[in-house]
Amino acid sequence: MEKITRRAKNLAICYGASVAGIATTETLKGGPPSTDLTYVLPGAKSAVSFAVPLDQNHVEPWFNKQNHEAHFRNNIQANVIASGISLELANYLEQKGYPSIPLTANTAYRSDTQNGRYDEKPPISHRYLAVRSGVGFFGLSGNVLTKTDGAAIILGSVVTEAELIATEPIPAEDNYCDNCLLCKAACASGYIDGEQRVTVTLGGLEFSYSKKHNHSRCDYVCGGFTGLHKSGKWSTWSPGRFPIPDKDEDFYPALLKTVGPYLRRPRTESTLFNVLMPGDKVELTCGNCQLVCHPDKDVRKRRYKLLVESGVIIQNPDGSREAVSPEEAERKIGAMDPETRALYEKV
Ligand code: SF4
Ligand code: SF4
Repeated sequence: MEKITRRAKNLAICYGASVAGIATTETLKGGPPSTDLTYVLPGAKSAVSFAVPLDQNHVEPWFNKQNHEAHFRNNIQANVIASGISLELANYLEQKGYPSIPLTANTAYRSDTQNGRYDEKPPISHRYLAVRSGVGFFGLSGNVLTKTDGAAIILGSVVTEAELIATEPIPAEDNYCDNCLLCKAACASGYIDGEQRVTVTLGGLEFSYSKKHNHSRCDYVCGGFTGLHKSGKWSTWSPGRFPIPDKDEDFYPALLKTVGPYLRRPRTESTLFNVLMPGDKVELTCGNCQLVCHPDKDVRKRRYKLLVESGVIIQNPDGSREAVSPEEAERKIGAMDPETRALYEKV
């Protein structure tokens, strides 16, 4: 098993992951339902967890709102690479005689919960596997951070009947998260609580991160329905200017009201396919909590500064997006005919 464990991790690294580890049914024992490997494979004994790095070169142009497409494309490619590694690795393990299940990197949801896919519960949580196997550690944001790439990663996993050898979590003292709260500050939706924490126990070890509020918050903002921060001074890459509610329960109704305008707005070239989205397609407009989090605190601070000082996004008649000052955005929106303006804000 030592040899096959080494080879499984090595395959993931050779095919594009920056780090890989192994979680087992034992090391995941006592965890939330999404750590139950037998949910996808009744005879499961272990899982390979790995992280594919995003290209850091595209992060600052994302935050200063100069280049939407570069990171968007890179994000799609990293997801496809992570899902591809999963498929290759599952095939490799199968060929070695161990039934295995590849997991897609994203947009896979359980259908057997109260609201089905809309509960957004994954078959298996890549995050819990990653922290327990030492691929990364939880930041306050609840994102998994790696030593080299921070949170700018896409996670992947393969579940297998092979009794691969577990790898150890990263020691707490090596976790660079210093509660800087820049992930919370970079989130226009208020999804990250920042004060209250949740703790999970996996195989006798505790892992904790910030409590998160209702998921509709992230759906509304990260989904691109709206993007203007409550201050009116900065935005995500969404040109939507619909109000961001205060209470959790007001987010889903607010989202529903913006579906029409969202679908009628001109689309960018790149798109992510997601069955939960109107039209099955989503534009990447946020991910700020993830992208702001770099191992170097000065880089984190610089990214946050770029985000909040680069103005707000408006959409031009040809569909292109442009960052302008908050005042210029008001002027341009005010000059639109009511039908066009209604694509972006309440008229
Ligand atoms: S941005 Fe700061 S508080 Fe948030 S996860 Fe990263 S290091 Fe932790
Ligand atoms: S992706 Fe955006 S909206 Fe969602 S939690 Fe992160 S910063 Fe907030």
